[in-house]
Amino acid sequence: MSAQSVDRAMPARISRLTELAYNLWWSWQPDASWLFQHLDKTLWELTHHNPVKFLQQISPAKLEAAASDPAFLRHYDGIMMAFDKCLSAKDAWFIEKHPELAGNAIAYFSAEFGLHVSLPIYSGGLGILAGDHCKEASDLGLPLVGVGFVYPQGYFQQRITAEGRQEASYDRFDYDAAPMEPVITRDSEGGLLALHLNGRVIYVEVWRVRLGSVSIYLMATDVEENEPWDRELSARLYGGDQETRIRQEIILGIGGVRMLERLGIRPAVFHANEGHASFLMLERIRGLVQNGMSFNEAADFVRSTTVFTTHTPVPAGHDAFSFQLVEQHFHSYWESLGLDREQFLALGSYPDGQGGANFNMTALSLRLSGRRNGVSQLHGRVSRAMWHSMWPELTEDEVPINSVTNGVHTPTWVAPEMNRLFSKYLGHDWLNHHDDPTLWERVHDIPDAELWNTHQQLKHRMLNFMRERVRRDWINEAAGPVRVLTGGTLLNPDALTIGFARRFATYKRALLMFRNIERLKKIFHDEWRPVQVIFAGKAHPADAPGRSLISEIYGLAREHGFGGRIAFVENYDIHVAKYLVRGVDVWLNNPRLPMEASGTSGQKAALNGAPHMSILDGWWYEGYKGTNGWAIEAGVPEDASDDDRDSADAEALYRTLEEEVVPLYFDRDSDGIPRRWTHLVKEAIRTAAPIFSARRMVKEYTQRMYVPAMLDAAKK
Ligand SMILES: *Cc1c(COP(=O)(O)O)cnc(C)c1O
Repeated sequence: MSAQSVDRAMPARISRLTELAYNLWWSWQPDASWLFQHLDKTLWELTHHNPVKFLQQISPAKLEAAASDPAFLRHYDGIMMAFDKCLSAKDAWFIEKHPELAGNAIAYFSAEFGLHVSLPIYSGGLGILAGDHCKEASDLGLPLVGVGFVYPQGYFQQRITAEGRQEASYDRFDYDAAPMEPVITRDSEGGLLALHLNGRVIYVEVWRVRLGSVSIYLMATDVEENEPWDRELSARLYGGDQETRIRQEIILGIGGVRMLERLGIRPAVFHANEGHASFLMLERIRGLVQNGMSFNEAADFVRSTTVFTTHTPVPAGHDAFSFQLVEQHFHSYWESLGLDREQFLALGSYPDGQGGANFNMTALSLRLSGRRNGVSQLHGRVSRAMWHSMWPELTEDEVPINSVTNGVHTPTWVAPEMNRLFSKYLGHDWLNHHDDPTLWERVHDIPDAELWNTHQQLKHRMLNFMRERVRRDWINEAAGPVRVLTGGTLLNPDALTIGFARRFATYKRALLMFRNIERLKKIFHDEWRPVQVIFAGKAHPADAPGRSLISEIYGLAREHGFGGRIAFVENYDIHVAKYLVRGVDVWLNNPRLPMEASGTSGQKAALNGAPHMSILDGWWYEGYKGTNGWAIEAGVPEDASDDDRDSADAEALYRTLEEEVVPLYFDRDSDGIPRRWTHLVKEAIRTAAPIFSARRMVKEYTQRMYVPAMLDAAKK
């Protein structure tokens, strides 16, 4: 296997580099990537920061040299010591707090995980959140395992044609170069995992990704033993029709539970990240019923030990299948739960919005999980209203859906330059207690000039990154002049730079700022106070309205009249996101209220000193404090039409820009420092960094959900 081919050339003194390469823990250590960079900087770039590929290609002579280089070895030993500390989870928060619960595993199921560019198994916010959750679980010493899918073709790579058409291409996933190891293969004892479903067998291969002390187990059906259509089953993330979708979800939920059994992992608590994985609840009930419990007893037990997180108030965002489709796949299953057809279908039954009903995965999850949450305070409230009909005997406020507000994994998202600044002024061990709000009071000790200069540096890095990307494509004749222009070559490092990057879904209203083109041009072209905007994001290939948003923005970016003040960065992914959230001056979010369940990119930006300008939706509803960014507030009545609301919100956006953001940014003192701006930046960091961190979030899940569920599990 690949790990061995890497090992062959590895000198004994630094042999653990291989282990490090296969553990994504390295990716969120400020100093670990230095090891690889130091070995061969060019190759590190060429292999896109994928240490597995890197070690496969590096010249043995360079490894030999490093093995006798004292500076390298000192660094290596330091990293390995920290690595071992993480692996042992000794002194970790969870172990210190709940030593008696250390043996209780939490299984975290998710259809996608956003972990690193080398693993294209995520599409957007949901996946990034799952990745951040698991990384933080490792940092806190939580006994958590992830369950998901390898998609052999991953999510698509985006290119935009000169006419603005989004083209999707799928790279074949290179298993040998990915930071994961096979766990169940045809050569394993017992062979591939055989899932007997509906009278047929589907074979599953299992891979393991390591994140510090946490492992994520990924299932793959692309094996010779399967029929072609089963091999294709996990080919693409969110590809295919309803039929593919339900079969994927059966593998994820039911297959996931059986996979854990095969691996000998017996979780005390199960967490379904969104409804995609919720068949896991049925499979757990089936196991208990087969062991002699009644359906009701089993369902009660499963409820008490299951956490369910819902992620969207957009109705189409909730998976629902026709009863016919469900029946087709479950007709030989419900009996093993001790249910008949009607009782089984009732578990997922929910109005389809057109007078009928279908099998709704969120309704199923809400019925079979005992701890349920939305992902921000406002989203919790919206969810209680949205699902109120399932608890008609309760008032809306009593609907048992809580909220745990999303946060971002600080070590992953903080820029190395900001990390250095925080180390200097907050204390060298700031990362160890970065969810402590009092620590962040000291952000005001950072001299304005130092903060401003650090930000300028990050902004230059981002602009260079964008230019280099299109320049390389230009050289390779992979980009025409239009893309060189729209890729950001005319951007001005002195202009106030707004970032808008996320999936192109219509509710996010990417075109809002273009409602009054003349007014926007005036803002952009002010000679002394220029403004520019950078867009990035993918539209799901099946989402025609989303794709047409991209075309329109592309068309505007190409327009002479906008003078190169609009850029579009192709192929938005974790790598691009890191540059954007660290490099722009302001992060903009203007969804249609209240459709943004949380949003997390604004949290990443605020951590790095780019304040948020947003509709008071998602996390910003609770994050906005008046002095740490801007609220786009139009004060339209709740029953206003979408069009009226868009007009009013656009008006509020222009007003906020013209009257507040632009004047503040360009108000410089004699040293060229915008004092009042830097003050606001510090407030943005101080208020967002501790609270909207994955650390605060995972601690909350632990204390409010996981620990009580573990105690419930032990009672039975
Ligand atoms: C953070 C992130 C997202 C999520 O963006 P939202 O603000 O939640 O819309 C999506 N894609 C990538 C690559 C990200 O890093």
